[in-house]
Amino acid sequence: MENRDGWIWMDGHWTPWRDAKVHAMTHTLHYGLGCFEGIRAYATPTGPAIFRLDEHIERLFDSAKILGLDMPYDAPTLRQACIDAIGRNKLESGYIRPLVFLGAEKAGVDPVGTEVHVMIAAWAWGAYLGADSMDKGIRVKVASFARHHVNVQMCRAKSVSTYTNSILACREARLEGYDEALLLDTDGFVAEGPGENVFVVKRGKLYEPEITSALDGITRRTIHALAADAGLEITARRITRDELYVADEVFFTGTAAEVTPVVEVDRRRVGTGRPGPITQDLQRRFFATVRGEDTGHADWLTPC
Ligand code: PMP
Repeated sequence: MENRDGWIWMDGHWTPWRDAKVHAMTHTLHYGLGCFEGIRAYATPTGPAIFRLDEHIERLFDSAKILGLDMPYDAPTLRQACIDAIGRNKLESGYIRPLVFLGAEKAGVDPVGTEVHVMIAAWAWGAYLGADSMDKGIRVKVASFARHHVNVQMCRAKSVSTYTNSILACREARLEGYDEALLLDTDGFVAEGPGENVFVVKRGKLYEPEITSALDGITRRTIHALAADAGLEITARRITRDELYVADEVFFTGTAAEVTPVVEVDRRRVGTGRPGPITQDLQRRFFATVRGEDTGHADWLTPC
């Protein structure tokens, strides 16, 4: 990733991509306190537009607050830098990554005395789980690693250190030949994917886990609205692992993963083993919305 053309916003300055470096003593590199966002911009008939930018900026500030990071920039500044990151990097569509991290001013766990830094990068990024994942669906393994307890990792924050747990689960699943993992919470109920929320369809109704140890996903909120448009009800409740095995449909949502059908869990076929009709309908509504083809939620799009 480091050897490419482009511009990265580093503490208020547009820096050539190859020069956007930090020191080896960077506190976040050693101890993991930091937070970030993943945001997508899509090509629309009127040019590139960022999807639900304000919600992502709000979640970034919420994450910083939860983690006790004093943001050195205000929301309008970071919002504008995200918009400019698309134009500066000449992207028609792409992924935007703001990251808030602590600097290299001192060693030791206590962060007092370190400075808070912000970087924003943007680059072109296709389907997160592979080109076929959207049409054919993915195979998922329930991880042997539990998702964080709500009072261990602050789960409302999209924090850097959450992703150690995500990586353990994801790597385990991939090494065993699956496309992605699914994590249960510490009580054994379905939580989320390593970087995705999860939905279940049974007898025409939609279910999702209560947001406890899972991230409050913005794509998940989008699905709430698109399901309402489609006249579908969603119930949030505890979901067991074996409910996934006998579900009619399962799908993942996320900024990177978008709306990805899950067609197999732990070597059990979900429904027919192909993306189901409700998943496909919501997926179609999602892409029509983010690409500005369906203007029913045009206020979710920020032109770049
Ligand atoms: N859960 C986790 C752990 C994630 O990393 C993500 C991706 N940000 C999500 C859920 C989905 O969130 P969103 O739809 O806001 O991208």
